[in-house]
Amino acid sequence: MNPVMQTIFDRIAQAETIMLFRHIRIDGDCVGATKGLQEIIRQTWPEKQVYLIDDERSDYLAFLGPDDAPVADEVYANALGIVIDVGNLERISNPKYALCREIIKIDHHIERDVYGDINWVEDWRSSACEMIAAFYEAFRDRLRLSRKAAECLYTGMVTDSGRFMYEGVRGDTLRLAGLMLDAGVDTETLYAHLYLRTFDELKFRAAIYENMQLTPGGVAWIHVTTEMQNRFGLTFETACTSISSLSDIRGVLCWLAFIDTPDGEIRVRLRSRFASINGIAEKYHGGGHACASGATVYSAVEMQELIRDADEHIRRYKETHEGWL
Ligand code: AMP
Repeated sequence: MNPVMQTIFDRIAQAETIMLFRHIRIDGDCVGATKGLQEIIRQTWPEKQVYLIDDERSDYLAFLGPDDAPVADEVYANALGIVIDVGNLERISNPKYALCREIIKIDHHIERDVYGDINWVEDWRSSACEMIAAFYEAFRDRLRLSRKAAECLYTGMVTDSGRFMYEGVRGDTLRLAGLMLDAGVDTETLYAHLYLRTFDELKFRAAIYENMQLTPGGVAWIHVTTEMQNRFGLTFETACTSISSLSDIRGVLCWLAFIDTPDGEIRVRLRSRFASINGIAEKYHGGGHACASGATVYSAVEMQELIRDADEHIRRYKETHEGWL
């Protein structure tokens, strides 16, 4: 066990009020990890106040339940803050984290900012939910895991690991996922929430296959323009799922989705197998994991520069490595 886990357990046990924080552009992992830990704390210490306050909502994650209503600034000031699944400070969704008397960072991204008073970072973990599950396992004689908490944590373990397919999944991942299943997760309903698509979403997927591009080095990319989003009546969240349609192309070691945002920027989602691509994300105002990163570009010209960089990177990777597919 990482010794910092004991410190974190002691701080939680001592705190009367705890505020939980996660990253902007929410996903299954940051939502599952914050809600899962909140539920574990509530079940274990019903007398503690534990809040999760965030403006952002997600349709497909709504089944995990609503967040809490806003509270006064004084509540933050007396609270222990726990920030989960956020590598760099500017991505914390609720800026009031800065009011908390002490901050614990729990994260599995490649370290960018050491912003916590206490930092537990394990970038080899496949998800932040896996870390919370490992935390539960380490103190399971003193913590309570309800079925609801297990559902939250299992959700993040499944979504961030691509259904246990990406690199980063180890024996420990599956053993901890097994603990969650033992707590009674209803996988049929959970997978239905996460993976069923509407008829129109599948039409959109067909358009992605129709419009995807391929570079000479083997980078597939798609630009989901505002026009395309309007044509298919897409929410921004659905437009962003376009990245997953490009993941299974033989010889394509890197794939990119560029999604126009309502405020005129272009969100970039970068994915790869075999070769790491977080260096490219960092060059374009982003970061993340070796094979799953995010970035932002501000023009079509910058988008083409990023594509050229990715193409060159993958071309060089292929020249210097064997065994890739
Ligand atoms: P996404 O494509 O947004 O799901 O991002 C993939 C991974 O990279 C996630 O773990 C994100 O938390 C992380 N990430 C996304 N955008 C950024 C960014 N601008 N800076 C640092 N990390 C990011």
